[in-house]
Amino acid sequence: MPGKKRKFDCVLVSKKKEAEGVITLKFKPKRAGKISFIPGQFIIIYLKNGLGSKGKPYTISSIPDDEFLSITVKKVGEFSTALHNLMTGTSVAIEGPMGRFFPEEKNGELVFIAAGIGIAPFFSIIRNYAKRRLLRNKKIHLFYSNKTKKDIAFFDELNRISDKNKDPRIFYYLTRQKIKDSRIKEFKRIDVKSIKNKLGHLENKDYFICGSMDFVSDIRRIILGEGIGRHNIHTESFY
Ligand SMILES: Cc1cc2nc3c(=O)[nH]c(=O)nc-3n(C[C@H](O)[C@H](O)[C@H](O)COP(=O)(O)OP(=O)(O)OC[C@H]3O[C@@H](n4cnc5c(N)ncnc54)[C@H](O)[C@@H]3O)c2cc1C
Repeated sequence: MPGKKRKFDCVLVSKKKEAEGVITLKFKPKRAGKISFIPGQFIIIYLKNGLGSKGKPYTISSIPDDEFLSITVKKVGEFSTALHNLMTGTSVAIEGPMGRFFPEEKNGELVFIAAGIGIAPFFSIIRNYAKRRLLRNKKIHLFYSNKTKKDIAFFDELNRISDKNKDPRIFYYLTRQKIKDSRIKEFKRIDVKSIKNKLGHLENKDYFICGSMDFVSDIRRIILGEGIGRHNIHTESFY
């Protein structure tokens, strides 16, 4: 049952570069079967080395239909560097899934707002909708901020889904680089004027915000400031 928390012994099957300092790691449970989850949920991963007793949370970036469960990790400090350095074949323990950062049936128009590696839950949610041919009945806007183009994870896959399905409408923002790219039009931080400009109006939508604590609290504050109710704003901070 999705949402039931358990601990699984898993093996690292592969690693793939997604963006500057960002890799996806695929894991396979040692015992047969898959780990059930709802796209948007996260797991806690425990390494069986010096960092052994310490686990850290990572969003599941794969979808339930994928053969392996994956996480997508930005290299920032001790634990994420250890994950980047893991050799394929290494055993880890994975606990979960957990978390409630996902849209529900009752949610109508969806606005996803991500910074950097905060794209991970949205990538899983969007790919899952695409796979299940649910994008036809959804209106989704994705605001995705990065420092430079090299930092954008899942760029080609997101564009492919968007081109094929019309949704999500994707608005890329770069904060530290100005380039000519038909897909990237905004060279600043995501701000309320820009969100309003793209959405027309902010009412009657559900907002999902994911990224660093500062990013999430800034965006949440500006959306609340526009009179949007708390129950329509959902957040996941990566700390
Ligand atoms: C629900 C949830 C989901 C998450 N999902 C993801 C995900 O999908 N992908 C992902 O990459 N992360 C995710 N995270 C974040 C992840 O759990 C880790 O916090 C992250 O990888 C950093 O851990 P770390 O040990 O590598 O860095 P830490 O050592 O904890 O460092 C964190 C920050 O502090 C800085 N820092 C570290 N040491 C020092 C120092 N001595 N002096 C000054 N600055 C320092 C680092 O540069 C870094 O910016 C998630 C977090 C949560 C809560």
